[in-house]
Amino acid sequence: MDFSLSQEQSQIRDMVAEFVDEEVVPRAKEIAETDEFPADLVAEMGELGLMGMPFPEEYGGAGLDYHSYAIGLEEISRGSGGLGTVVAAHTSLAGNMLYEFGDETQKEEYLTTLAEGREVGAFALSEAGAGSDVPSMEATAEKDGDEYVLNGSKLWTSNGSVADTITVFAKTDPDAGRTGISSFVVRPEQDPGFHVENTEEKLGDKGCPTAELRLDDCRIPEDRLIGEEGDGFVQALKTLNGGRITIAARGVGIACAAFEAAREYAQQREQFDRPISDFQTIQHKLADMDTKIQAAKMLMHKAADKKIRGERYVKEAAQAKLYASEVSREVANEGIQIHGGYGYTKEFPAERFYRDAKLNEIYEGTSEVLRNTIADQLLD
Ligand SMILES: Cc1cc2nc3c(=O)[nH]c(=O)nc-3n(C[C@H](O)[C@H](O)[C@H](O)COP(=O)(O)OP(=O)(O)OC[C@H]3O[C@@H](n4cnc5c(N)ncnc54)[C@H](O)[C@@H]3O)c2cc1C
Repeated sequence: MDFSLSQEQSQIRDMVAEFVDEEVVPRAKEIAETDEFPADLVAEMGELGLMGMPFPEEYGGAGLDYHSYAIGLEEISRGSGGLGTVVAAHTSLAGNMLYEFGDETQKEEYLTTLAEGREVGAFALSEAGAGSDVPSMEATAEKDGDEYVLNGSKLWTSNGSVADTITVFAKTDPDAGRTGISSFVVRPEQDPGFHVENTEEKLGDKGCPTAELRLDDCRIPEDRLIGEEGDGFVQALKTLNGGRITIAARGVGIACAAFEAAREYAQQREQFDRPISDFQTIQHKLADMDTKIQAAKMLMHKAADKKIRGERYVKEAAQAKLYASEVSREVANEGIQIHGGYGYTKEFPAERFYRDAKLNEIYEGTSEVLRNTIADQLLD
């Protein structure tokens, strides 16, 4: 058992950390205030290979192992939680759908441009009435000659309003429950009947547009079907499984940022003629924060390790995402507490970390649903 990073993993971490410290951290406040998609940063990340970290070089990716990808995403999220979601939805969800389940033509045509960072990807599974309960989705895809005609609405699509390629889930057989769901590549610029209805105003996760999409007789060629008809539900579950490791990474990254800000503040802020870091209460808070972060990192890497080995990792991915998300929110909460009243203001980033952390407990499986998943695996 080896807990240290390999030379390559250390190099990746240092490279991404340098980019984040120089380019993302100075922009984080502005991104949080404007809530604008930082297209220039995304383009830069594409040039650095950060938009296709886990994909093979033949498909435009950086060919990194899943540990390195998680470390990269952790660093990006340390700079901006919104940017963390942009990369995770683009890579772990849209990109991975194509990599794992797309045919060779789809990989060459759509995955390569995503992995090279020349285009942005999104993953549209959720609907207004179908979040945790995926099979209750209502969007349909009807075959008409050599085309599919898509109808329905998708809610909460991260990157949805800026994406060039969206993997969309719809029912090809509405009476067949989960085996009636299929997935498709939708290209907003090309496909008639595709509309961005709205983008949400959110608590945090700023800079990553969360869009409501409408499909009105949206016609797409039949070769945009991913895999076979009826494969969509299993594809979504498998994709979300891998995605959960990187959402754990997002949680760890935000928690690290909250911890560092709190540690620095505690050493500078003086009350009763001494830095507040002299008080044992504050020291214990910092000790607990770091201990939880280290434990979350280990769960994340354990899940990544199982994935790399090709072993079943449903429980490990759910545990990593569940724990890292709760730790992220707890650490961010303590970060505000250590800042006192200043932590509650926008003058300091502590409140932003809290708002960004909260999302982790909701998307890609709520904490309640993940506890169900873990219990199912334990009792199976
Ligand atoms: C900012 C943001 C970005 C998102 N990005 C995407 C995206 O890119 N693509 C996408 O497809 N979706 C995305 N989502 C959707 C997200 O995955 C769903 O919001 C999430 O799955 C929960 O679904 P829901 O909101 O409908 O809540 P519901 O499923 O209605 O849940 C409401 C509450 O009930 C609980 N609950 C539900 N079922 C159970 C159960 N069986 N047992 C115990 N408790 C239960 C939940 O845990 C929760 O507390 C995003 C959401 C947000 C907020």
